[in-house]
Amino acid sequence: GKPIVAVVGRPNVGKSTFFNKIAGRRIAIVEDEPGVTRDRIYTEVEWLNHKFTLIDTGGIEPESEEIIPAQMRRQAELAIETANVIVFLVDGREGLISSDREIADMLRKSKKPVLLVLNKVDTKEQSPHYFDFYELGIGDPIEISSALGLGIGDLLDEVVKNF
Ligand code: GDP
Ligand code: MG
Repeated sequence: GKPIVAVVGRPNVGKSTFFNKIAGRRIAIVEDEPGVTRDRIYTEVEWLNHKFTLIDTGGIEPESEEIIPAQMRRQAELAIETANVIVFLVDGREGLISSDREIADMLRKSKKPVLLVLNKVDTKEQSPHYFDFYELGIGDPIEISSALGLGIGDLLDEVVKNF
């Protein structure tokens, strides 16, 4: 079947905004309140003659924190299991925090190709936190602004290279 690309990351990094930008319409709910995506949400995408399914997920939090209900966490884990490529979104304005590290550990264990994506980089300038993210051991961070639509094409080029 078609490759599956899952968008994962802690709440509020902009997963649903990113998903909607690629879908070209508002399917996923974007909220300032963390953790609003309750189910996995799908859209079909075509890029450079590659067809794939994109999945938005609810945020993943460390198991010790009870912010995200277990069911939502499970949905995200299922998406990771199903995915062929994972887009791991982090917040380029806030910088690296411990939940990013915990998710990175989960993703490394999955052995799936992971693209590390700094979202909310709304200017042409590099995020001041850019180099901190190398600590995650997931390679070169890719900078985008989902809100403004910056860097999305270059990211999709990288996504389809992993099929
Ligand atoms: P999710 O919880 O990861 O799905 O995050 P959402 O897509 O709901 O976005 C959380 C908040 O971040 C919302 O207020 C968005 O408008 C905002 N946001 C998302 N992407 C960007 C971006 O590229 N730049 C800026 N400045 N804000 C963004
Ligand atoms: Mg969301």
